[in-house]
Amino acid sequence: MTFSVHGLAVSRGIAIGRAVLVASSRADVAHYFIEDEKTADEITRVRISRNAVMEEITRLQQDLPKDAPHELAALLDVHLMLLQDEQLISGVKHWIVDRHYNAEWALTTQYEIIARQFDDMEDEYLRERKADLEQVVERILRHMKGVASPVQPAAQAGAGRKLSQQDLLLDDTTDVPLVLVAHDLSPADMLQFKQSLFAGFATDVGGKTSHTAIVARSMDIPAVVGARSASQLIKQDDWVIIDGDAGVLIVDPSPIILAEYGFKQRQGELERQRLNRLKNTPSLTMDGQRVELLANIEMPEDTLGAVTAGAVGVGLFRSEFLFMGRSGKLPDEEEQYQAYRKAIEGMHGLPVTIRTVDIGSDKPLDRHAKAQDTHLNPALGLRAIRWSLADPPMFLTQLRAILRAAAHGQVNLLVPMLAHATEIRQTMSLIDHARATLDNNGTPYGPVRLGAMIEIPAAALTLKLFLKYFDFLSIGTNDLIQYTLAIDRADEAVSHLYDPCHPAVLRLIADTIAECDAQGKGVSVCGEMAGDVGMTRLLLGLGLRSFSMHPSQILAVKQQILRADASKLQPWAEQVLASEDPAALLQSA
Ligand code: PEP
Ligand code: MG
Repeated sequence: MTFSVHGLAVSRGIAIGRAVLVASSRADVAHYFIEDEKTADEITRVRISRNAVMEEITRLQQDLPKDAPHELAALLDVHLMLLQDEQLISGVKHWIVDRHYNAEWALTTQYEIIARQFDDMEDEYLRERKADLEQVVERILRHMKGVASPVQPAAQAGAGRKLSQQDLLLDDTTDVPLVLVAHDLSPADMLQFKQSLFAGFATDVGGKTSHTAIVARSMDIPAVVGARSASQLIKQDDWVIIDGDAGVLIVDPSPIILAEYGFKQRQGELERQRLNRLKNTPSLTMDGQRVELLANIEMPEDTLGAVTAGAVGVGLFRSEFLFMGRSGKLPDEEEQYQAYRKAIEGMHGLPVTIRTVDIGSDKPLDRHAKAQDTHLNPALGLRAIRWSLADPPMFLTQLRAILRAAAHGQVNLLVPMLAHATEIRQTMSLIDHARATLDNNGTPYGPVRLGAMIEIPAAALTLKLFLKYFDFLSIGTNDLIQYTLAIDRADEAVSHLYDPCHPAVLRLIADTIAECDAQGKGVSVCGEMAGDVGMTRLLLGLGLRSFSMHPSQILAVKQQILRADASKLQPWAEQVLASEDPAALLQSA
């Protein structure tokens, strides 16, 4: 029966596919398709690992001391029984043979199905067996890590591809698009799904500018977050439409609904093709004002998309993505240097703005760290520059790597979340220290322009201080909104209060742009607002001439710029700023 689940629209477009439910704890399991002739090898891989685990448990049982509690032996019996469970074995085979899932993915998919059945059991003893099942599955997965896959995880049939009417008929093949449904995914997990086989994403939790949503948007595939109980209501393999424009999930759609969304999907595709024609058009307003369109990236490889979209540089390289999902083992100077250098070379001489690491809050180093985080309010805690200044050796390592990479191209070094003069001075002194070390070692390095992010109201209210030390400023509207309005950007419960058009937010943005203009310093916006076509005209009217956004948003924003008359927008923006209800004025314009 068709039903819908409402959430927050975070990435535009329509995806139609079968649901793949992924538990956040297992998001790091590889997901890829295998070729037809390899299915037998893949089944063998699971069998070898399962047999090995059975042997392990049997040995454990035999070695149990005579006086061991009876419950222990009984528990091992249960584990052995679960390992031979017909539903587990046949289910795994089904996902491998019929759907061509790789072994790990097939195993975790079948685990999710059986785990739900356990959840629904009346009997408490049986319900608790879910934990045992989880343990045996974990054991098999651990064992499989040691049994190499005979196939390369490259065969990604249907990778991010849109569904055609024809696909809907190919129900049983690997050509069926898949959409990922999860309770929660960390930004690092999300990154792992980049260039993956999923055509859309939906999560129960998250706000529009949570980092998970930001990565989803950078993948340019439809996504909905904050859909509350979606991962409970949707079952493995259900057909789901993800409407990333309206923020709605439609589960088990009827043929009429499917046809309607198929039509919308094709319209979206046509619109994209139309926008593509603007790729080489210079970014100028109707009255001849040049506007710089830069890219936000998470990894060096993203520069390819940035160049393809016509970005004239990288306005924000979120370097923390190099640090995440590595079980706390941070990248050393050489690894970071190579990554930054790759990004610089990928931009072929265009400038690259590397932001120093912004770990903390909804960007934990890894998901276990998040689970263990006992701080009451991490968004107000040890995050970004605070985290860096608390660990000078780590920060110096990053600074040296960036300075060395700057020998290969134009680099801007951007510092996140500064608020205090002392933090600015400490940062400057550490940059000097990093340069001195490189000098002493005779290591080559290049010049960098220094920039600060304006993302805390305290910074926006003390601009003169910032402009005394920095060459340019970059407005991080995602955090500026969060901290001005005291709204956790990752919390869907207060997402209705997360208002980019709040007069206080607009005032801080307007003042920052005006002050930079007055002092002849560069200023850009690199928060999600820069890529929101609904905000382009207002930002132009406020005098902004540098926007940094996901590469996928560049052409749509360019279209707005080409249609805008900046001289007329300025007085209108003044009115919006003075209004009690700027959002209403924006909509009516
Ligand atoms: C911002 O806060 O607007 C920003 C660009 O940084 P991040 O989203 O990574 O916090
Ligand atoms: Mg920020």
